[in-house]
Amino acid sequence: MEIEFASLDDTLARFTLSGASPGFANAFRRAMIGEVPTLAIEDVRIYDNTSALFDEMLAHRLGLIPIKTDLTTYTTQDKCACGGAGCPGCIATFTLSVEGPKTVLSSDLIPQDPETTPVHENIPIVKLVKGQKLVIEARAVLNTGREHAKWQPTLVCGYKNYPVVTISDTCDACGMCVDECPREILAIKGKKVQVVDSKLPDCSMCRLCERACMASGIGEEPAIRISAEPDRFIFVVESDGSLPVKEIMERALSYIRDQANELENQTSEISGEEKK
Ligand code: SF4
Ligand code: SF4
Ligand SMILES: [Zn+2]
Repeated sequence: MEIEFASLDDTLARFTLSGASPGFANAFRRAMIGEVPTLAIEDVRIYDNTSALFDEMLAHRLGLIPIKTDLTTYTTQDKCACGGAGCPGCIATFTLSVEGPKTVLSSDLIPQDPETTPVHENIPIVKLVKGQKLVIEARAVLNTGREHAKWQPTLVCGYKNYPVVTISDTCDACGMCVDECPREILAIKGKKVQVVDSKLPDCSMCRLCERACMASGIGEEPAIRISAEPDRFIFVVESDGSLPVKEIMERALSYIRDQANELENQTSEISGEEKK
């Protein structure tokens, strides 16, 4: 199995996964979305809220604010040494005290831990008019997207099979497929159509080129055929900023490895018991 990056920074990765089964590619996608923990606001104590929003609506909005997460500092409450009671190792606390007229922004959340801040400073929470007030304390905890979408570290996480474009000798370079391709992947070179250099990963496999070729009156079979490599996948992963994309990938792969090891242990235990 091999991963080759086309681009990588903290928020966006494009890469090709080769030598993997469709099942593994999907497990990897699901692990990145649902099994990598991040911080999100879970408990909100509302001391004063004279804004136009209900307390529940406010708490919901606060929960959706992405928070920078250091997984070496925080652990989930069920695994924390405090036994789930709540301590600085499993809870990140924020306070907010704002009086109108003002739009309350994510930057108004004052973190107890200066490293654990909202990813973006300008997320609007509620608009206060003159005389309205909001005073709250919010607690963020670690959890995974499997529990609730607010803990998903990814905004975009998807893949497609690597496309294969095959052009047969019956191609007469009429150019109809070139005109039809919405992604400008094809071009006439010499007496045949060809894929433009390095454009192949952009092919959406829409097959409009095959249809155009048939419409050109070529006969029973189109000269251009679109198929997919069964064990090669193009991934696009975008982080919400709570964790770098590379860490999301690494943690998702560790999760799959741990799950596989556990399954192996359990099956060997069962087969050991059967032998007895
Ligand atoms: S399948 Fe669609 S995107 Fe791909 S080459 Fe054909 S027309 Fe273009
Ligand atoms: S439409 Fe068919 S025959 Fe015409 S250039 Fe494309 S592949 Fe060749
Ligand atoms: Zn704790």
